[in-house]
Amino acid sequence: MAPQAPDSAVKDDLLDDLTPQEQAELVERELKINLRGIISNLRNLDWSKVVWRNLIMFALLHIYSVYGLYLALFHAKWRTIFFSVVLYFMAALGITMGAHRLWSHRSFKARTPLRVVLALFQTIAFQNDIYEWARDHRVHHKYSETDADPHNARRGFFFSHMGWLMYRKHPDVIAKGKGLDLSDLENDPVVMLQRKYYLPAVVTACFVLPTAIPCIYWGEHVVTALMVAGFLRYTIVLHITWFVNSLAHWVGNKPYDKSIYPSQNSVVAYLALGEGWHNYHHVFPWDYRTAELGGLVNYNITCLVIDFCAKIGQAYDLRTVTPEMIGRRVTRTGDGTYASMTQKAK
Ligand SMILES: [Zn+2]
Ligand SMILES: [Zn+2]
Repeated sequence: MAPQAPDSAVKDDLLDDLTPQEQAELVERELKINLRGIISNLRNLDWSKVVWRNLIMFALLHIYSVYGLYLALFHAKWRTIFFSVVLYFMAALGITMGAHRLWSHRSFKARTPLRVVLALFQTIAFQNDIYEWARDHRVHHKYSETDADPHNARRGFFFSHMGWLMYRKHPDVIAKGKGLDLSDLENDPVVMLQRKYYLPAVVTACFVLPTAIPCIYWGEHVVTALMVAGFLRYTIVLHITWFVNSLAHWVGNKPYDKSIYPSQNSVVAYLALGEGWHNYHHVFPWDYRTAELGGLVNYNITCLVIDFCAKIGQAYDLRTVTPEMIGRRVTRTGDGTYASMTQKAK
């Protein structure tokens, strides 16, 4: 299946619905903490749509992670900390390079050994199986900021960050998700094998092995290993991934298209191995770099790893965008910050 180019018909419909003031806000927004707004949102929330099981699980996960942070600071062995950082990189790459750039967008092709490694890394991250992750992400791109977008940023920062996982899906998300062609995923045996054995695989990769390895190899206490390399590391990777849908849809420049929410956010790029250049990514989603500038200039670790895999023959058919095409788009729809942004990068 071809990666989805921005669907101009959908976006135009979307903008037509807006008042001039809302359109202005879409272009010029900043993140404001509005306590009154938060309280009134909570009062008006349809509580019958809250998925209590997920809410309780996330609450417990965060309690364990705070305890994990205390253990990491005062009790854990340095090897456990180092091991947790390695797991963070593996899980993050499983998402950015695997679920996102390879399987959701088909921005490059990968040979079976690399696909197997990426599927294992993606399992460590425990963010639903690849098939489901890619389906939700394709719907997000195709119907950004509409009811069919699973983490529609118009519903607020918290909803786009993690609230969407604790609230029943909007019927449009399910309907539009069913309308997508996912045959490329269905024809990938690595994706379908992971989906078939997802539950035992995810428990083993995300919690059992991260606990067992520090206990067996350097005598870490079992509770410390589980809380630090398991829960704390898991929570950190979750929030970093969620920042792409929240912060990078709320804060940052829009040098490529000022009419959309996704923005260039360097903080998210640093944390998420190069995924924060989100204005570019939503305009050119098939580019394997997810940014105009790959490599170290944009702290685009994922791009460097894909380049390395291409050198050793595991990745191929890497897709990009020509500078002319980028230039035309910048002139036509950019917010005017392109020149200063590229000067800073040099
Ligand atoms: Zn997005
Ligand atoms: Zn994407």
